[in-house]
Amino acid sequence: MQVFERLAEYRYEQLVFCHDKATGLRAIVAIHDTTLGPALGGCRMYPYASEDDAVVDVLRLARGMTYKAAASGLNLGGGKSVIIGDPRADKTEALFRSFGRYIETLGGRYIVAEDVGTSTEDANFIRVETEHVVGVDVTRGGSGDPSPFTALGVLQGMRACVEEVFGTTSLEGRTVAVQGVGHVGYHLCRLLHGAGASLIVTDVEATAVGRAVREFGAKAVEPDEILTIPCDVYAPCALGATVNDRTIPGLRCRIIAGSANNVLLEARHGEALAGRGILYAPDYVINAGGLINVADELEGYNERRATKRVMRIEERIRRIIAISRRDGVATNVAADTVALERIAAIGSMERLHTGHPYGLQVRRRETL
Ligand code: NAD
Repeated sequence: MQVFERLAEYRYEQLVFCHDKATGLRAIVAIHDTTLGPALGGCRMYPYASEDDAVVDVLRLARGMTYKAAASGLNLGGGKSVIIGDPRADKTEALFRSFGRYIETLGGRYIVAEDVGTSTEDANFIRVETEHVVGVDVTRGGSGDPSPFTALGVLQGMRACVEEVFGTTSLEGRTVAVQGVGHVGYHLCRLLHGAGASLIVTDVEATAVGRAVREFGAKAVEPDEILTIPCDVYAPCALGATVNDRTIPGLRCRIIAGSANNVLLEARHGEALAGRGILYAPDYVINAGGLINVADELEGYNERRATKRVMRIEERIRRIIAISRRDGVATNVAADTVALERIAAIGSMERLHTGHPYGLQVRRRETL
């Protein structure tokens, strides 16, 4: 692999390989862009088949975080890390503390959080070695489960879309088809039910469906029916890439607004949705509630402040819709424009952040 060529393609700042023979740590940190602030992004633990796969994944994920933080109005850059290993078999305190020491050497340019394969417990071990970690235990100043905040952000973003299509932000009487009633989907159903919406739900787990039917009077359908059921809003809260050449012709919704990442299989599918008159709320903007909430830990976590910031997803989606109309582009393209314009306005890509825009003090290491 030509690493520098890859870094140059999307102007990555830094790629760090971390190796500790004693603990078996093999980790990679990718810092894409720190124009807006230190790079914040989760650490994914996964048994990658090859080192190339791990590099490709961490680079792709880090760049996504730059756009997400920028479009969400956060003073954060984009970064991500991966630990090569099996999260069910290879986790130890020593491994995460070793990783924490590597994070510490970056001096705050990268702030790590949880991701697929890592947990609050792992973050607690990292925290022993460095302050540059969020998503720690609530008792250590952590912000807790991000899912209710992600769901709240989706609800607010959905209001902006409903206003655009139906002329009012009210969800009373709107039919929303929720695909996946797991962590986020469940909380989204709770909020939608409270707002007077009718729910159609599906999941591959029967117990998850049963709970939504029981608690919110949702109508259950089979997983393969959710994409073609007539509804006002389709809310993907399970998997990515559900909007593609195969599914677009069968969609019978007016709006797509959910928490899933990478909803569009390819960027061009945003254009295809617009062509069918379906309003798409860009995934990384509408699902940023969890990130906004966890980032609040950097200022000393305050739930009220975090909630207010998450609620602003409504105006962010409204602005993206306006830009999409102004420029005659699909909403996913408009979201990228918002992110890139903010980065361009704040500074050049050449500036490397080593300071702490959140005024963090270097504290003494905690002991567990
Ligand atoms: P989760 O695993 O708790 O829930 C996903 C649910 O989808 C599960 O109940 C699962 O059984 C169901 N599911 C899986 N395959 C399905 C299928 N084919 N059809 C229907 N249902 C299916 O995950 P989550 O934390 O609720 O996250 C949901 C989505 O939102 C994911 O794509 C995630 O990446 C994204 N997201 C989550 C957060 C967060 O705060 N948790 C933040 C941003 C984005």
